[in-house]
Amino acid sequence: MAIPDLILLHAPSVYDFRHKSILYGPVSDLVPSTPVFEMYPIGFTTMAEYLERSGLHTRIVNLAVRMLEDKNFNVEEALRKLDALAYGIDLHWLPHAHGSIEVANMVKRLHPASPVIFGGFSSTYFHRELIQYPAVDFIVRGDSTEGPLLMLMQYLRGGGASHPAPGAPDYRALEKLPNLVWKDADGSCHTNPLTYCPETLDDLLLDYSHVLRSVVRYRDLASYKPFRNWLQYPITAALTVRGCRYNCVTCGGSACTFRSVHNRAQPAFRSPEKLAQDIRRIGEFSHGPVFVLGDIRQPGPDYAERFLNAIAGYKKPVFIELFDAAPREFFRRVAEALPNFTVEISMESHDEGVRRAFGRPYSNADIEASINYALEEGCQRLDLFFMVGLKKQTYQSVMETVDYSQAMLRRYKAAGEHRVIPFISPLAPFVDPGSQAFEQPEKHGYRLFCRTLEEHRQALLAPSWKYVLNYETDWMNRDQIVAATYEAGRRMNLIKGEAGVIAAEVAEATDLRIAQATRLMGEIDRIMLNTHDSGERHLRLHELKQRVDNANLSTVCDKSELEIPVGGMRINMLQAATRIVSDWWDDLLAPRRPED
Ligand code: SF4
Repeated sequence: MAIPDLILLHAPSVYDFRHKSILYGPVSDLVPSTPVFEMYPIGFTTMAEYLERSGLHTRIVNLAVRMLEDKNFNVEEALRKLDALAYGIDLHWLPHAHGSIEVANMVKRLHPASPVIFGGFSSTYFHRELIQYPAVDFIVRGDSTEGPLLMLMQYLRGGGASHPAPGAPDYRALEKLPNLVWKDADGSCHTNPLTYCPETLDDLLLDYSHVLRSVVRYRDLASYKPFRNWLQYPITAALTVRGCRYNCVTCGGSACTFRSVHNRAQPAFRSPEKLAQDIRRIGEFSHGPVFVLGDIRQPGPDYAERFLNAIAGYKKPVFIELFDAAPREFFRRVAEALPNFTVEISMESHDEGVRRAFGRPYSNADIEASINYALEEGCQRLDLFFMVGLKKQTYQSVMETVDYSQAMLRRYKAAGEHRVIPFISPLAPFVDPGSQAFEQPEKHGYRLFCRTLEEHRQALLAPSWKYVLNYETDWMNRDQIVAATYEAGRRMNLIKGEAGVIAAEVAEATDLRIAQATRLMGEIDRIMLNTHDSGERHLRLHELKQRVDNANLSTVCDKSELEIPVGGMRINMLQAATRIVSDWWDDLLAPRRPED
């Protein structure tokens, strides 16, 4: 088996969650991951493929999934057995602040001569603080780290791997690497300019063929799974863009955050034809849905039209998201090209003032018309997302969002329509670093409890998500955000059951889980308030662990509500094998590079 040059490790949110009693709450109800956030960023696959293309073997090990699937999985033993020139760890989403650094410490202890490299949005934002942790040798900043990471790996392969050991490390070469943060032999930290920021995504391969090949090469499907239930529900993502034209107040992926943190003046788009090709290639091995990340109208009308022409006739399920209202003609074109399409809309609030303050420009009338067009043109389903914890949003306003959803569901039920499904969840656990609300909290009515990376790391160990939240607002404190979330979740679940968009037994089970979570939250609060001895407090919190673990999955809605039926063989192994063999032939026949 080939020894990889780089192993990319994905840590759980909190290390080791298996031994801690933390009521995570509904922080991950609306994403495929569990609250451990075991899904690795899509950048892992693009980086791995990019490096492989240049002859550097790269392996992905999803430690979080391995730990979730096997309570006896020994992380230390597994890491000890790994052998690579360097180890890469993502700190992309801030909820990984704890796990990623703990895993880095372990890697450094077990493989002291191997460099540890960090990357991702949160690594970029907190790079000055992150590089100070003893286990961190390098950080590759920016939203597109494939190129700089390749340069760093080539440097390391050329003998720089002894860095930062005393000797004669070639600092002149390191100084030239774009986007890099590094330490010299004295431990002094250096930040190179963030200049690598490609204008398009066309230099990447986003079709997961590298993942398929690596699974065979390392005989390790378990470590490549993007999230725990992926084989049962193999949803994959296709990427249209890095960056955004919008400026939603709490979003770390907004235009102003990309400008200030990633030095990106304009979004980088994937060409529409390549996007269609990515989706078709995923469809060769998977029957699962493909989620197209980014509104396909964002680069302009020509982009959507070219994409729809290129993907026309693709019959497998595709999810598209809308950042704004859309005309009937748009849905007609989508339906012609993608007969099996589902629409995702984040309305955030029923209140137009709250929605506008968040950064979404459309009126209720406009989006309701869009919803009707999507249904009339034949979308399979339409998910409508609302959020708790917004600027200008009160407890009462959250309850009115549920009333609004109820009125809508009743209207649709009367027309025999059950395809619209509303969801509500909290902005949790963190307002994104780099977002407007994080940078200017007072201006936007936010009060932050954590500012530094270390403060967020410590917050993640709190016994319930109320204490993990890094914010409260002028309109709701943390208690009210939690109370509004559970009450709105409870009511939303009941009205969905009543309208028949979810089965009665699903609604009943969710109602029980919400009641259990609310009770547990109360018990945790009482322990925190009344138990002053830290040892006793720890003991009493730990006594709740079994009940807390049971309440940690699918709190305010059942995860399965987000899934669409996937028929037949979900992953077609024969097609996957054919794809691998065909890629190997292509590789064999391709002209060799001098270094190969
Ligand atoms: S939340 Fe708003 S700013 Fe963030 S990616 Fe979506 S549309 Fe863009």
